[in-house]
This record gives sequence, C-alpha cells and structure tokens, in this order.
Amino acid sequence: MTRKNVHVAMYSGGASSAYVAYQMVQKYGKENCILFFTNTLWEDEDNYRFMDEVAEYIGLEITERIDGRTPEEVFYDYRFLGNSRLAKCSEELKVYQTITFLEDLRDEQNLEPILYFGIGPHEKHRAINLTEFYNHRPVEPIETRFPMIDTFSQDINVKSIIENEWGIKLPRMYNLGFSHANCGGRCVRGGFQHYAQLYKVWPDRYLEQEEMEENFRKHFDKNVSILKKDGGPFTLKEYRKQLENEGVEKFLKSPDDTVPCVCTV
Ligand code: SF4
Repeated sequence: MTRKNVHVAMYSGGASSAYVAYQMVQKYGKENCILFFTNTLWEDEDNYRFMDEVAEYIGLEITERIDGRTPEEVFYDYRFLGNSRLAKCSEELKVYQTITFLEDLRDEQNLEPILYFGIGPHEKHRAINLTEFYNHRPVEPIETRFPMIDTFSQDINVKSIIENEWGIKLPRMYNLGFSHANCGGRCVRGGFQHYAQLYKVWPDRYLEQEEMEENFRKHFDKNVSILKKDGGPFTLKEYRKQLENEGVEKFLKSPDDTVPCVCTV
C-alpha cells in the first residue's frame, strides 16, 4: 500500500530552519507536517525559547526525540572522548534518534517522510552530503528538500522577517559570533576558533568543558583531548593558557574547517 506523505521540518533553533518550517506548514497544512527536533540536552537555553516561540507562531507543537544522555554521558559509555574527527554524540543523540523516528513513521503510521532543511545556497555541499546520507542510511531512501536553495529568492532576509514580522527575537547565539549554535557552543567538533569564541563569550562554559575533558582523562587514564594539534592531543586547559598568554582575538581570525554536518540541520 502506498504511504501517505508527511512533511518533516528538521527543526534546529536556526532562523532558516524556522522559516522553512513555517513555509512548509503554510503549503501543506499542520495536519500533514511535523516539526522535528533531537535534543542533546546541551543546547543553549535561549535556543529552546526561540524554538518554542516559533512553534507557537506556526501553531504546531514540536515533536522531540530525546535519548536522555548528554554528549558527555555518551563519551563515558563508549570510553571515547568525542573530538573534531569522531563524535559518537552526534551518531547516538542525533542520527540514531532521527533515523529511528523516520522509520517508525513508515512502520507504525504508514507515512512517507519528506525532509526539509534550512540550509542556504552558501552551504550547497552540505545539502549534497545530506541528500547522499538520506539516500543510503534509512532502509529505503528518504526525499530531502532545501527550499532556501531551490525555492526562495537568495536575497530573502529570514532573520529580519522573524524579528520584525513575526516579532520573535532570534536566539542569542546569533549575535555572539559562533560558527554554529549547536550544543550551546560546546560542540566537540567545533575546532580552535569555535573554542576561542566560547572562551571569549562564556568563559564559565569553556571551563565546564575543560573540566569535563580533565575528568575524562583522569577517569580512563588516557591522554586524549577534544582539540588536536600536530596530529596529537591538545587539551582545553593547554589551549586556555595559550588564549590567556597570547590573547583570544588572534585565535578568532582563522576559521575552522571542522563542521558537525549531521548536527547542523
Ligand atoms: S553538536 Fe557537537 S557536541 Fe553536540 S551532538 Fe553534535 S557533534 Fe556532539
């Protein structure tokens, strides 16, 4: 029997994903749409506020899948500290939760999901990666759509529409200079610039990550770290000393090439 389509916005706390979700619901109706969010429990509190306000504006509740562990708890379970090359937290808390949710839609409700992402034209490579991913990872391929690339005019100012027309304040992380807002600036795949930004904006949160790393190293008696330098470990403690000695600004200038692609959806 053919499955009925259900339109699923990959709802992340980003302005573009909020706009795409709104347009999707306008076009297909609430009864045929889902706002889907995977919660890692590390998100910035203001992201939750933004997502709730947008969901209320759209008039559709958020469908949340939650593993229940934080990324740190996943690292302990795997005895492996996530880093820029390999982050089990993404796989466990985001990918697994998403794929099982989508397969459940098929198996339990006979629905065929179509996924909507807020990715823009400047990130076409990520759209290609996601299309590939959803072609191969689920039991059968799942259709992906990128309206910010394919449908809307490139000069549309999503942030202004949300703030000025919808009257919803953007998540505070937007104006704080982070390359992405996932996991409240704590992302273990973030890289040097990202952590310099975290230190500059929220030193306490940086220190929490530093403490997490130190505890993990002690607990498993392993010389491991979130950041890597010259192919080896470079702890957040070492990096903080460098930031303090040489000044944070210097480290904010070279962009990281490590992007947590499956998490920034
Ligand atoms: S955003 Fe980073 S820390 Fe958070 S789940 Fe994804 S890879 Fe892990």
